[in-house]
Amino acid sequence: MLFPTTIAGSLPKPSWLAETERLWPQWRQSGDTLADAMRDATRIALFEQEHAGIDVVTDGEQSREHFVHGFVGGVEGIDFTKKVRRGIRADRYQADCPSVVAPIRRPKSVHAAEVSFARSQTDRTLKITIPGPMTIVDTLYDDCYGSRRDLAFAFADVIHQEILDLCALGVDVVQLDEPAFNVFFDEVDAWGIDALNAAIAGVPCKTAVHVCYGYGIQANVDWKASLGKEWDQYDIVLPMLARSNIDQVAIELAGSRVPPHVLAHLKTKSVAVGCIDVASDDVERPQDVVRTLETALAYLPAESITATTNCGMAPMSRAVAYAKLRALGEGAKRMRTQCSRSSDGPSAMIQH
Ligand code: ZN
Repeated sequence: MLFPTTIAGSLPKPSWLAETERLWPQWRQSGDTLADAMRDATRIALFEQEHAGIDVVTDGEQSREHFVHGFVGGVEGIDFTKKVRRGIRADRYQADCPSVVAPIRRPKSVHAAEVSFARSQTDRTLKITIPGPMTIVDTLYDDCYGSRRDLAFAFADVIHQEILDLCALGVDVVQLDEPAFNVFFDEVDAWGIDALNAAIAGVPCKTAVHVCYGYGIQANVDWKASLGKEWDQYDIVLPMLARSNIDQVAIELAGSRVPPHVLAHLKTKSVAVGCIDVASDDVERPQDVVRTLETALAYLPAESITATTNCGMAPMSRAVAYAKLRALGEGAKRMRTQCSRSSDGPSAMIQH
């Protein structure tokens, strides 16, 4: 099927589960009640995706406080009581980061319970997100390794074991989130791609990477405003990703200043095209999604395009997020119909 749909990963949490519209929310339940509430929220997240016409679904990250610390919380060697405030993403914002105090190790699968539950609740293609090695390193305080590269490869090993466990539970796609790739170009080149390849080496599922300009929070909005008229950082990063072993790369095209010509770097990859702007509460119309997909089609073969959201929706309101998902599903459906009507196939629709 052309133009399958997915989401970057996270969805807003219900108000009975956690504080709303926050990137680092406090849970509103505890103990068994919290575990129950997470499962109920996961049911809703899956239901909403299925009803919006999303083909490759996630658990909405309903069981994670934050996309990095949710995973790191299950890894030994990290002390969450020793949080150090530091500037992350090259000082774009300050965050209280747990300390790495000993060599890291994964005593057991971090996300097995959530994945088993999500798998039992849906027959659709199931994607799970895991933070990538470089982004993890950039969201911790290192008091042990003394080298970002060494710590990243230690995490690549832990992520690799986790992916194998999750595949055994029926996960179809693993997506590594690497927003730090758009910040540290020299490190991406020196070891970031190698760490990514190490994390996915020989895994039996499809693999994806989500590199992006961040959520729609104020610090990111300010940073994006400083990046100039065109966000051409992808001209540096995408050729590196094109050489990686990752199957799919995500790009945010909706309402962003990413020049669409950068898509041409990814002709050998599957590309998840961001058709939903998560930095705006204005809900896209299905025809807006169609227009974004048409733009991508000028640079990529139709068979390689997946329609997705620009980034995670965790900090948004639920009503807005779910309305945007419905626009995404409906827009991709219209695009499929439009392509099947075009006698010479999808490429005939586009003026090259
Ligand atoms: Zn993102």
